[in-house]
Amino acid sequence: MTMVWTPRCPSMLAQPCFTVSELSLLPQRTPLLPQTYTSISRCAASRTRITALSRNRLSKESSSAPTTHEQPLSPPDLDTRSPLERFRTKPKKPLSVTDLVSPAWCELQYSFVLTRFGRKPRTQAMKQGSKVHKVLEEQVHTFVPVQTASKEDRFGLRIWNVIQGLRTLRETGMTRELEIWGVLEGQLVCGVIDEVSYKCPDTRFEEELVKTAAEKTGEMASQSQRNIANYFAPVDTAAVPGTQATRPVYIADVKTRGVKSLPSGASLRPTKMQLMLYKKMLQSLAQNDVDADVVFARYSLNPLQPFTITEVAGMDSSQADETDFPSETPGFVADMETHTNLSALWSLMISEFAETFTGVSDVLRAEFRHSKDGDVIGSELFVYEKGTIEEYIAREMGWWKGERPAVGVEVEEAFKCRSCDFADECEWRKSKIQEATENHRRRVAGRGKVEVVG
Ligand code: SF4
Repeated sequence: MTMVWTPRCPSMLAQPCFTVSELSLLPQRTPLLPQTYTSISRCAASRTRITALSRNRLSKESSSAPTTHEQPLSPPDLDTRSPLERFRTKPKKPLSVTDLVSPAWCELQYSFVLTRFGRKPRTQAMKQGSKVHKVLEEQVHTFVPVQTASKEDRFGLRIWNVIQGLRTLRETGMTRELEIWGVLEGQLVCGVIDEVSYKCPDTRFEEELVKTAAEKTGEMASQSQRNIANYFAPVDTAAVPGTQATRPVYIADVKTRGVKSLPSGASLRPTKMQLMLYKKMLQSLAQNDVDADVVFARYSLNPLQPFTITEVAGMDSSQADETDFPSETPGFVADMETHTNLSALWSLMISEFAETFTGVSDVLRAEFRHSKDGDVIGSELFVYEKGTIEEYIAREMGWWKGERPAVGVEVEEAFKCRSCDFADECEWRKSKIQEATENHRRRVAGRGKVEVVG
């Protein structure tokens, strides 16, 4: 299925889309409970996995979903620091993929969100979406709680979970919740990919893509198809041992929705950017292009400090079966005994990437599920566009670094303002209403003149 970006309806563009009555269309305010959970996880149904869940799970609810809040809005912010300095500089957390793709809905709205809350508050719908994600993750991994004594231990668990995710992918053909790190424009960005698998979501779609690419480059289509087809060889079953490293992987993001219909048009833009960002970051990490020192420095981690996890957990190879850590965890124990610090474990992760796949497919999939029961509503496929995502990153980083102010939506996307919590204080929106009203008046006046002359 091809994603087609339809042009805006000319008649819509000619209308003053922002109307005074829209100012009253503010959404119901729902209570928010900022969620932070710190726990460590338990092993696997199919593969052992130990996961440090010390990260805040940012919502996987359609990132276009409007934010809601219960606190009164604070006065206009006069802080002149860049968003990066204010919200994502140590000791605050680094940038996330969510931070980069949320502005694809409305940059100004995300700026309001950061100013008010520092991060996107969790709505009831987002919590419901997290439950769906949890169920999906538990189909692949179960959680083993592990005691940690240092921040190096905790980050070590995060790296080890990536390693375990890659092993799961090799053994079963698919893994979920794969954490990734990237360095974009000098800034560390972290994210979690919902699904990585060897299975092509639509082989016909991919074949067309390959054919078009071959025709564009002027090569003999048949020759190129043969070559690229080897790389993009579809896999319909679980991985075949020994051949995984020559295969690409396919990434997918799961979005939950309160309604049983698919989003379309501008509502899909954040999802498309998110998937392209994941592909770019995963490819770069797998190719060992991410400087581990930048990652460790951003988290103030000593890459050579020995782990204390096994001691604290009270387990080593000889004790593993006697503790609460069941026999499914020997891989963890062995890895931690032979890779005793972050630097060594990072190297192990890079070698596991090399063993698992050679590239990330350009075919990207968003899967939409109903937030109440997790039922699949449908999927949307996107094609990776290198130029588009690089341009997008450069533009959004420009805003994060304070090189330009946040901007709101254009007139043709005024529908977004109807569900925006900040509509009544948004000067951008008011100026657009004024602009559209004046344009409308001018058009009416112009028509009047023509009638007189005629
Ligand atoms: S009112 Fe519209 S332009 Fe202003 S922040 Fe909200 S969505 Fe953006």
